[in-house]
Amino acid sequence: MSLPNPATDSPASTTGTSLASHAPHATQPMESHPLKKGLRQTEQRKAVFEALMSNADHPSAVDVFIRVKNRMPTISLATVYNCLETLTDNGLVRAVNHEREPSRFCANLQEHAHLFCSQCASVTDIPLHTHTPPEQIWKLPTGITITQQEVSFRGLCAKCASTQGA
Ligand SMILES: [Zn+2]
Ligand SMILES: [Zn+2]
Repeated sequence: MSLPNPATDSPASTTGTSLASHAPHATQPMESHPLKKGLRQTEQRKAVFEALMSNADHPSAVDVFIRVKNRMPTISLATVYNCLETLTDNGLVRAVNHEREPSRFCANLQEHAHLFCSQCASVTDIPLHTHTPPEQIWKLPTGITITQQEVSFRGLCAKCASTQGA
């Protein structure tokens, strides 16, 4: 069974494990699949979370996929998307959106703003000096309710700013 896979140009399909599930002579008993899948999901979510925690550089889903694939070669991009969605829904990770770029992910749950570098597209965390309620920083229009703050700055990261001055 080594037919060429029409989707080989997709990086997620290099292992082909999910596409091979139609094979008529599956060697594993069917009943072991759900449990195995659930266990793998947990391991995969842990690996995705650790990839995010290892470096506070706000990777995209594809960046996370490349990192996790090094230690878990069978993981697919779709699984990484699912894990990131679960982590975001559970409040363990924040999705950071800027203009029309793909979402980046942030595991820093402290209140902070983001600086988007217009030169290298890096994202830098900007912490607050103190925890100040939004109504003390902003002139909030009467009657509105703030449920979440998302403050972004645009400029140059320290590295780009230093090379521009040189
Ligand atoms: Zn952040
Ligand atoms: Zn930069």
